Amino acid sequence: MDSQTPQQRHNNMAAIHGKDTKPEIIVRKYLWRHGFRYRLNHARLPGRPDVVLRMYRTCIFVNGCFWHGHENCRYYTVPKTRTEFWVNKVKRNQERDLEVQHKLARMGWHCITIWECELKPARREATLQSLVYTLSKIYLQDHRAKTYALPEEDDAPRMVADESGNNSWITEGNESNK
Ligand SMILES: [Zn+2]
Repeated sequence: MDSQTPQQRHNNMAAIHGKDTKPEIIVRKYLWRHGFRYRLNHARLPGRPDVVLRMYRTCIFVNGCFWHGHENCRYYTVPKTRTEFWVNKVKRNQERDLEVQHKLARMGWHCITIWECELKPARREATLQSLVYTLSKIYLQDHRAKTYALPEEDDAPRMVADESGNNSWITEGNESNK
């Protein structure tokens, strides 16, 4: 039910869209308590992500359900007045969110979106736990990706030429003893 006056809606919108809104603070505090260190609203990254975890190469966006048009969410109800205006506005925000995510992905960043409704008291703990789980998965995945990037035959003995020009076989073990 949309029972808000335009002024109330305006105030809510400002609260949702502004910096340091409550949902963002919930996420930041949780991460901080769990030992994650981050930057806020990194100006040089597309979309000024709410939380930037460099070590995890991850940007977190905490999105208001109305403002960013959370699909199939009960907090995203199209207002009955100026409907077209709001529909278009939210659509533009959705398009911009998608564009920002693609840009960040191309720059090698992971993107995590947390919706405001996922931070309501009943769902908060589960959401934040799964965030931490996702972050550790990302870290492992990136770590493993680096290991896989090594040539497969790296463990195998291979031919090298020493200074005198003689070829000899070495293994990883020999090499690390040098
Ligand atoms: Zn939602």
